[in-house]
Amino acid sequence: MNEVVVIGAGLAGLSTACHLAGQGFEVTVVEREDIPGGRSGLLQRDGFTFDTGPSVLTMPDLIADVLRAVGSDLSALGPLKRLDPAYRAVYADGSTIMVRGHREAMRQEIAETCGSVEAAAFEGFVEWLRKLYVVEMPNFIDTNFDSPLGLLKNPLAAAKLVQLGAFRRLGPAVRSHFRDPRLHRIFSFQAMYAGLAPEKALALYAVITYMDSIEGVFFPEAGMHAVPLALAQAAEKAGVQFRYGESVESVLRSPTGRVAGVRLAGGGMVAADAVVCTLDTPVAYEQLLPDLAPPRAARPGKGDYSPSCVVWHVGVRGVPEAPVAHHNIHFGSEWDTAFEHLLDRGELMPDPSRMVTIASLDAPDAAPEGSSSLFVLEPVPNLSGGKIDWTQEAPAMRDRLHAFLGEQGYPTEIVTEELVDPVEWQRQGMAAGTPFALAHTFPQTGPFRPPNVEKKLPGMFFAGSGTVPGVGVPMVLISGKLAAQRVAAYLPDRR
Ligand SMILES: Cc1cc2nc3c(=O)[nH]c(=O)nc-3n(C[C@H](O)[C@H](O)[C@H](O)COP(=O)(O)OP(=O)(O)OC[C@H]3O[C@@H](n4cnc5c(N)ncnc54)[C@H](O)[C@@H]3O)c2cc1C
Repeated sequence: MNEVVVIGAGLAGLSTACHLAGQGFEVTVVEREDIPGGRSGLLQRDGFTFDTGPSVLTMPDLIADVLRAVGSDLSALGPLKRLDPAYRAVYADGSTIMVRGHREAMRQEIAETCGSVEAAAFEGFVEWLRKLYVVEMPNFIDTNFDSPLGLLKNPLAAAKLVQLGAFRRLGPAVRSHFRDPRLHRIFSFQAMYAGLAPEKALALYAVITYMDSIEGVFFPEAGMHAVPLALAQAAEKAGVQFRYGESVESVLRSPTGRVAGVRLAGGGMVAADAVVCTLDTPVAYEQLLPDLAPPRAARPGKGDYSPSCVVWHVGVRGVPEAPVAHHNIHFGSEWDTAFEHLLDRGELMPDPSRMVTIASLDAPDAAPEGSSSLFVLEPVPNLSGGKIDWTQEAPAMRDRLHAFLGEQGYPTEIVTEELVDPVEWQRQGMAAGTPFALAHTFPQTGPFRPPNVEKKLPGMFFAGSGTVPGVGVPMVLISGKLAAQRVAAYLPDRR
C-alpha cells in the first residue's frame, strides 16, 4: 500500500514528498501535467526558454533543506549565482538605484545615490530586519499552529516582535529609517508579494525585504525550472513514485470516515493512509472535497485575495547592455494611489510599476545567440472585482507593454511571445485568477490562514500557497515540511 499521496508536483508537493520520503514514508505524487514545477513551469518556443513563474529566487538554504531530507544537496541545481545587482530600480524621474548583492556594496550605492545620512541609516535598517527575521522564522513561519493561542507558545518571541514594532505598518516603519522616497519604494514594494499595499501590510512583512534585499537574490544557470527538476529527481532517487499526466478527481474515504486514497480522472485509484493536497485551498475544497465546509477564507466570496499579474513572455532579437540587469523594476510616478487603484478599486494602475526580467543574461541557453528572453510583469487586479474584460484588455495591455519596452531601451523586435492574464491563471486552478493566493492580511496569516490539516477528514492535509505559512518559493517549501510533520504525527507507526 502507498502510504501517502501528494496531489501536485509544484514546489510545495515536491518539498512534501522529499520530507516524507526522507522519513521513510512510501510516497506517490500525482501531477496532472507532464512535468514537475506547477507555477514554477517552463515554456519553450522558437528556440527560447521561459520560466513561467517565480524569477526572484531567495533563501536557497530552504531548497538545500528539502534536498538534504533525501540525501542530496544544492549542487543538484547546477551552478547557482548570486545576482549583483539583485535588482535595478528605475524611477519616473530617470534616476536609478542598484540593489546590490552585498551589504557593504549596498551601503556605498546608497551613499552615492541618496547621500551619507541615508547610507548610515541603512546599517540600522539591516539590523532591524535581521532581528525581525531571527524572531519570526522559527516562531511564526516555520512552525505548525493548532490554534490562535499557538501565537503565544513562545511569549518572549511575541513580546520581542512587539518591541521591534512588527505590528506597526510597513510603510511608516521603512520611512522611520529613510527620508529618500526612492528607498521607501525599494524596501517596501515587497509587501506586494504578500498581496498588500505597504501602508496596510504589517511591518512583520519586512522579512520579505530581508530575504531578497539583504540575504540576496539567486539564479540557477539552468534557469528557475532547475529547482523543481532537481527536487523531483532527488525525490525519485529516494523512492518517490511520480504519476505525471494524471489528475486527481476526488479523495476516497474509508468506511470509518478516514482518508483512503484518491480517485483519478481516468477512473483509477491510488490507495493511501494520508493525502497531502497542494491545490490552491479554495479550489481544493470546491473540486476535491465538495461535501466539506471550507475554512472561512476559502469559502466563495469570503477570501481576500492578492492582486494578480499579467506576464508577457517575449523572445526578442538583440541583447540589452549594462546598466540593464537581470531584474529591472520600473516604478511609476504614482505610489499610494497605484495601490488604491489595484487593491481597493479593482482597476489597472494608471501609471503602472512593472518588472522586466531577462533570464538569458545569466542563462545562456534561454535564448538563441544574439537574442534575449524577456519576462515582463505588471500587477493587475484579481478577478474578484470582475471589472475588467480581459478579452478586450489583454491585446491592449500587450501593445502598451511593447511600447514600454521600447521607451525603456529594451530590444523590441519580437520573435515569439505569449501573454498570460488573470483569466488564464484562473483556468489553471488559481482562485480569483491570482497566482499569489489569499493575501497575507492579519486574519489570513499564521493560525488564521486556512490550516494545513482538515480535522473533519482524518488523514487529509494541505501544503502550498493557500495554506500556512503562505505564498512564494521560500514559504511553499516550508509548507511542504510542515505538512510532512502533520502526516508523521498522524501516522506515527507507518514509517
Ligand atoms: C508569474 C509568477 C511570478 C512569481 N514570482 C515569484 C518570485 O519571483 N518569487 C517567489 O518566491 N515566488 C514567486 N511566485 C509564487 C510562487 O511561484 C508560488 O507561490 C509557488 O510556486 C506555488 O507553489 P505550489 O506548489 O504551492 O503550487 P503550484 O505550483 O500551483 O502546484 C500545484 C500543482 O498541482 C497540480 N494540480 C492541480 N490540480 C491537480 C489535480 N486535480 N490533480 C493532480 N495535480 C493537480 C498543478 O498542475 C501544479 O503542478 C510567482 C508565481 C507566478 C505565477
